[in-house]
Amino acid sequence: MFPRLYTLSLNQGHRVEEVGRWDDSEWKWSLRWRRDRFEWEIPMELELGMQLSRAIVSKDERDVQVWSCEESGCFTVSSAYDYLVKLGRGPQYDAFMYLWKTKAFPNVLITAWRVLLGRLPTRESLVRKGVLLNTTMCPLCQRTEESCQHLFLECKTAVQIWNMCFRWADVLYVQHNQLMTHFESFHLAQCSNKQNLIWKGVWAAIVRCLWEHRNFVVFNQGVADAEEVLHNAQLKSW
Ligand SMILES: [Zn+2]
Repeated sequence: MFPRLYTLSLNQGHRVEEVGRWDDSEWKWSLRWRRDRFEWEIPMELELGMQLSRAIVSKDERDVQVWSCEESGCFTVSSAYDYLVKLGRGPQYDAFMYLWKTKAFPNVLITAWRVLLGRLPTRESLVRKGVLLNTTMCPLCQRTEESCQHLFLECKTAVQIWNMCFRWADVLYVQHNQLMTHFESFHLAQCSNKQNLIWKGVWAAIVRCLWEHRNFVVFNQGVADAEEVLHNAQLKSW
């Protein structure tokens, strides 16, 4: 009945015949959801609607689940991995390839990777996922909503840390206001590729230590301290 599997993430386990009906010879989708969608899920729902509207549904075929990345139609981890790698190619792909070569501890790299994807549980991100919080303000400056962009680049503590870092390395640097560009341009023209992988490790160590420090401020009533973050990042880097 359906040439390809579309996973209905909010309506899993249903067969095609259960999520629509025939109106004469025209198939009408009628999706049922387990709960109301969050605002951030609405674009995904619209995208799903567009994909479904292009699907050809036939009365004469049986419902089957097919994994379209494999000729056999059966799911394999390797084909899912290849598919995700292909999806990940694009402007960000090279930056992530560079990140994984960076000289730093794995937990530091994973935090940096999550920062670049905007996937840390900042207050802005938690509220977007429907978590109720007393405040969405940045715990370090209390001036604006806490997002990855704000916490790691725009917050006055972050600005102080980056400025101290450049003075420490004795380099002039124009700070970029996008995390990915900030990471990509964290590069010393006079240094070798190997040295720059260490320099990128400093970037990763700073974001890791800043995140740890932010958690200390939130959960232990600590006080924002840019010098301490840089000191910890220097220790982690070496
Ligand atoms: Zn702030």
